[in-house]
Amino acid sequence: MNTTEKTTASITLFEPDDAKYLKWVNEHPEGFVLTSNKSLYPKFTVIHKATCDKIKILKAPAKPGGFTERDYIKVYSTNLTDLNTWVLQKRVNGSSRKCSLCF
Ligand SMILES: [Zn+2]
Repeated sequence: MNTTEKTTASITLFEPDDAKYLKWVNEHPEGFVLTSNKSLYPKFTVIHKATCDKIKILKAPAKPGGFTERDYIKVYSTNLTDLNTWVLQKRVNGSSRKCSLCF
């Protein structure tokens, strides 16, 4: 079964399923993960390396499902430029920043 939704050749938007998301990220450590809220508000739009703990370990008070199943989305790519382009295509005046911990 395909666990992800392909939107372009290099961009993967995860479906709302944290277990599948975490499995995918752990199996693809070479890429980058963009995390944001559903409106892609720039303040919440951050790109991490797929190995970053921030996108793999939920911190209290976050409840299980907090990565992809409620307010937040996750987008995966092996190409950093493609992630930036994706944000600009999805939101007028969109922007993203890099995580200060993993970059
Ligand atoms: Zn990070």
